[in-house]
Amino acid sequence: MGKLDGYIVDLKSMTSDTVSYRWHTDNDFFSAVQGPEIQRGSLDVAIRVKRTSGTYELAFQLQGEVEVTCDRCLEPMSQPIDAQCTLRVTLGDDYADDGDVVTVPEREGTINVAWNIYEFTALQIPLRHVHPDGKCPAWSSSLSPDSAGAEASLRESSGEAASDPRWDALKKLVNSKSSTVK
Ligand SMILES: [Zn+2]
Repeated sequence: MGKLDGYIVDLKSMTSDTVSYRWHTDNDFFSAVQGPEIQRGSLDVAIRVKRTSGTYELAFQLQGEVEVTCDRCLEPMSQPIDAQCTLRVTLGDDYADDGDVVTVPEREGTINVAWNIYEFTALQIPLRHVHPDGKCPAWSSSLSPDSAGAEASLRESSGEAASDPRWDALKKLVNSKSSTVK
């Protein structure tokens, strides 16, 4: 739990009606959270907490990328994340979460948003997530011999880069090539 203590938002002792937080989450964050869908990633997270008559509105901004498994080839792939989500929090007697509003005990007056960050991120992953056409290792087997060769050399040079301009240019080349061959 200690690793995620940095994600505690102190609501009770807010000195102004708006407070901002900023974090950078990385692989350590995802391994500490131990969520089922995401084990690795890199995200910039910003939260703006707004207090209005007993309710706290936490506006999350998530930007970066996480690693998920491609449905087609089962290899890791990068999933870009760019999202804005809102969480409403009130103070009460006991902890409660009814889906729309989270209640945290007033005697504590704090909420740890690590799991919320994880959940909001996981919600951004599309139901079906596959490498874009031409970038999936399982895809090359269905291409013509010519372009399969190009694909293989591309794969070697692409490394981990999610979006490589060289790749895109070559992909276009491969695509136009295979369409003219037909
Ligand atoms: Zn794939």
